[in-house]
Amino acid sequence: MTDVLVVGGGPAGRALAAECGSRGLATTLVDPTPDAPWRATYAAWLDELPEGLPPPVAIARGRVIAHTTHALDRRYAVLDVPALRAHLDARLDAAGVRIIAGRVSGHAGPAVVLADGTPLSARSVVDAGGHRAPLGGGHHGGNGAGPTAAEQTAYGVVVDTATAAPIAAAESALVMDWRPEHGEPGWPTFLYAIPLGGGAMLLEETSLARRPGLPLPVLHRRLLARLARYGITPQADARVERVRFPVDRPRHATPGVLGFGAAAPLVHPATGFSVADSLRLAPAVADDLATGGVRAAQRRLWPARAVAVHRLRRIGLEALLRMPPEGVPAFFETFFALPERHRRAYLSGRDDLAGHLAAMAALFGHADINLRRRLVEPAFRRPAPALPTPRR
Ligand SMILES: Cc1cc2nc3c(=O)[nH]c(=O)nc-3n(C[C@H](O)[C@H](O)[C@H](O)COP(=O)(O)OP(=O)(O)OC[C@H]3O[C@@H](n4cnc5c(N)ncnc54)[C@H](O)[C@@H]3O)c2cc1C
Repeated sequence: MTDVLVVGGGPAGRALAAECGSRGLATTLVDPTPDAPWRATYAAWLDELPEGLPPPVAIARGRVIAHTTHALDRRYAVLDVPALRAHLDARLDAAGVRIIAGRVSGHAGPAVVLADGTPLSARSVVDAGGHRAPLGGGHHGGNGAGPTAAEQTAYGVVVDTATAAPIAAAESALVMDWRPEHGEPGWPTFLYAIPLGGGAMLLEETSLARRPGLPLPVLHRRLLARLARYGITPQADARVERVRFPVDRPRHATPGVLGFGAAAPLVHPATGFSVADSLRLAPAVADDLATGGVRAAQRRLWPARAVAVHRLRRIGLEALLRMPPEGVPAFFETFFALPERHRRAYLSGRDDLAGHLAAMAALFGHADINLRRRLVEPAFRRPAPALPTPRR
């Protein structure tokens, strides 16, 4: 019997397990491949990150291009993923967290069962198993057991800053460029171009959300076409990044289990971000687990105002999913023209209901009649239906 069992050793699970261990809780972390390195490029708004992390590989001023260019009053941080991992591993080690290599296959009362049949008991069980939420039950997509997931998908290549220069300067993070320079009609995608430090840039064609996700070969093709306009041809052996994850996972509702990280889901339905929230919330959630167990931690993660913000963001997601292709850049043109406090409240502040409502009111006030209708209607409709998979 351990005090806390954390299922999943991604950023959320490792951060929370380390915090629990450092509070003197007997903590176990279980993951099928606990030593596998992280491959994703994690980034976040600098002001969302907690203190004490290793320095990011790059901090750049955010920029968005919709119909016009918006210089954002906010800095974007690209995390040093190997350093973050080493930092969390050192904290796990120092806190005496026990690490088990195994795949959790089920949960019964205070025990989880590994795929090989081994039971593990804990006073508090945390599902930090990522978007598949292994203890969450009924995850959609996959085996057709539920509705089709809305997914963010992206395909990126890493090039050097000199190669990327015609498209994006290394000092700025191009968070979104909605110009359809990929030359294809249909589902809207944008370019995400961020510095990775060490003279490298990640150039990524991204579909913010689609149900189901826009296939990666489509994004790959669009990226190459977009880059070709600037005379950029990535090297055949260039590092690539493939992104695919759901943005509309239902809330984790397994009694007695705390969903944390992408499993919670802490994923912002309209941006896909979760890592900064997971890292920032881990200490307070560990305090709650130490004093009041899973219930107290649930209350911390999901106070009524966070539930309300999440619902509103889900409606925002459904609005995006139903917009005609030309409506999406028009939406972001209106959104990024709002004052910084409104943009910040919508993009961050997961429990800032007043800020969120003020941002929505401001957006509504600046929207034309078509956009207003598109923003309001999804509140009264069923989720947008699944689209056919486009021709590759
Ligand atoms: C390529 C890519 C780039 C991304 N970039 C960003 C970004 O810049 N910023 C951002 O905020 N988000 C980003 N995301 C989205 C999301 O935030 C990440 O997926 C992030 O890794 C979520 O962290 P997590 O710890 O909650 O889950 P994960 O990182 O998915 O970790 C889950 C862990 O659980 C383990 N696990 C799964 N099933 C079981 C089981 N049955 N038993 C035991 N363990 C299990 C897995 O092996 C894994 O180690 C990105 C996603 C991808 C794919």
